[in-house]
Amino acid sequence: MKLDILVLAAHPDDAELTCSGTIALHVAMGKKAGVVDLTQGELGTRGTPELRLEEARESAGILGLEVRDNLGLPDMFFRNDREHQLAVIRKIRQYQPDIVLANAVSDRHPDHGRGAQLAIDACFMAGLRKIETELDGKLQEAWRPAQLFHYIQSQYIKPDFVVDVSDYWETKIASIKAFRSQFFNPASDEPETFISSENFMKFIDARGREYGQSIGVTYGEGFTLNKQLGVRSLFDLL
Ligand SMILES: [Zn+2]
Repeated sequence: MKLDILVLAAHPDDAELTCSGTIALHVAMGKKAGVVDLTQGELGTRGTPELRLEEARESAGILGLEVRDNLGLPDMFFRNDREHQLAVIRKIRQYQPDIVLANAVSDRHPDHGRGAQLAIDACFMAGLRKIETELDGKLQEAWRPAQLFHYIQSQYIKPDFVVDVSDYWETKIASIKAFRSQFFNPASDEPETFISSENFMKFIDARGREYGQSIGVTYGEGFTLNKQLGVRSLFDLL
């Protein structure tokens, strides 16, 4: 299955919090999108890996994803090394995305910056024919995505561009709420965390409004570039 957009995310729910409006927008345009979570988020304070997988599947349905995959790398302990690069390269070659969306280049959670660097290296290396990987006993073709953009997570980063997701904001919030074990849920008796407070959902709203306001719309999602962006005409920038 070839995807147009592949999201690589250190933890289940990273994609929902940061770029699910952009995913929903492109799915509505007929693009094929998928999310590969690197870990099961098994060190998260709330919920269990099984529950988070179930929540991720529910969110995938809300966003209209073609693929929701999980690499099962160790939460907090995955490294940008040969073993983990090969695991990500296999997924990039399997889904052959034109665009990859990856973790924020630096953030509060150390997995995010490390996940970003792992994605950068794996996207480049997936295009090298002499790095051989197999899927179901068959040699995979080399594939390098045309673009890699980084979404923005907890820490504020000035975006290089902002996507207007105003029409998909409700879908985004529904996809976040699919992670019932993680976010504000008055019915839960689990310990409160940084992301489970009511304030955190207000922050998500404020962040979306701030990025939206910066381009004159209601809600936006910001991204940073990995390399210089080229345009065919100045009018592409409108
Ligand atoms: Zn995360």
